[in-house]
Amino acid sequence: MQVTRETFDQVMVPNYSPAKMVPVRGLGSRVWDQAGNEFIDFAGGIAVNALGHCHPELVAALTEQGQKLWHLSNVFTNEPALRLAKKLTDHTFAERVYFANSGAEANEAALKLARRYALEKFGEQKQKIIAFTQGFHGRTFFTVTVGGQPAYSDGFGPKPGAVEHCDYNDLAAFESLISDDTCAVMMEPLQGEGGIISPDPAFVKGVRELCNKHNALLIFDEVQSGVGRTGHLYAYMGLEVVPDILTTAKSLGGGFPIGAMLTTTEIAQHLKPGTHGSTYGGNPLACAVAERTFDIVNDPAVLAGVKQKEQLFRDTLATINNKHHVFSEIRGKGMLLGCALNEDFSGQSRLFLDASTQQQLMCLVAGANVVRFAPSLVIPDEDIAEGLTRFERAVASVVAAR
Ligand SMILES: *Cc1c(COP(=O)(O)O)cnc(C)c1O
Repeated sequence: MQVTRETFDQVMVPNYSPAKMVPVRGLGSRVWDQAGNEFIDFAGGIAVNALGHCHPELVAALTEQGQKLWHLSNVFTNEPALRLAKKLTDHTFAERVYFANSGAEANEAALKLARRYALEKFGEQKQKIIAFTQGFHGRTFFTVTVGGQPAYSDGFGPKPGAVEHCDYNDLAAFESLISDDTCAVMMEPLQGEGGIISPDPAFVKGVRELCNKHNALLIFDEVQSGVGRTGHLYAYMGLEVVPDILTTAKSLGGGFPIGAMLTTTEIAQHLKPGTHGSTYGGNPLACAVAERTFDIVNDPAVLAGVKQKEQLFRDTLATINNKHHVFSEIRGKGMLLGCALNEDFSGQSRLFLDASTQQQLMCLVAGANVVRFAPSLVIPDEDIAEGLTRFERAVASVVAAR
């Protein structure tokens, strides 16, 4: 059957507007479309393809497990899930793991756990959740309500209640909002979708201290920042602040859907049998691929490589900006970088994205003012150089069209 980009407009729900080309094959950080055009991939499946496309070790993990056992449900446990959970707990603050299929589901579990924990330990009045403006936590109704962009949660009827928002990096505002009725605080230790905004280290420390003071659980949403993305295994490790609950997804599966919620034994015990669950969460296929991804990423050489590659991006982007004057700032960390557009180009990130696609470069935006790169953590330096050469052509074409 012949399908084309036009088929999308005929058969798909119109909630997305994908690029005009349809990719059919990928290898490392290169992707080919239906017409055989080759693209450099700085999008990484939105910070998911941590090891690029079709990494041989992940293909092996997938096909090996694919011949053994795909799915059981939560009525049975399985070896890949147990091994992955063991590794996640061995290498983080956490002692317990709950597996889900996506970032939103991991966050949904974290929020439900926090509410249940507070109810059982402190009583009904302790139910307020504080999150941050511009934050993003997924698209289920609870997580989108906790997310800090009302445009995404308005228009679907009554929202889950007792959710409040505060400006990111504003410790004074946070201090005036938190109280003994706060059950949890959910934050990204580097805001992704909201525009690649790094936290002020003193702000994160202050939030942790105030959570301690008011017995509120601190939930770090590391769905985008986790699994090597910032050059640390998890971003919290670079901030010297330990959360009570951490959620991880995106890069965790290297491209195979999986999410996880990590926490301590003390907190975890409040999700007793029957309180929460998932049919697919922790399925052997996803866990086998995630285990291999985790093994490869959790290596000092790979993590150091992420920092070196960040520098390469920053140096070349500075050169591009000296010539074309389009960015006010290059921000973010590791392989999660944002080019913030200056006033002359404000609101036009989509133009840069479309121009990049024209130049056979795949990239992302993070809001209307930021062009975002979230490539493979092991993208070869030559692909970074070639991709940025294409990006410079895209920038030049946007500038010329002004
Ligand atoms: C992408 C993202 C999510 C949602 O993950 P899904 O897998 O799309 O449900 C949640 N939180 C953050 C920080 C994200 O970047």
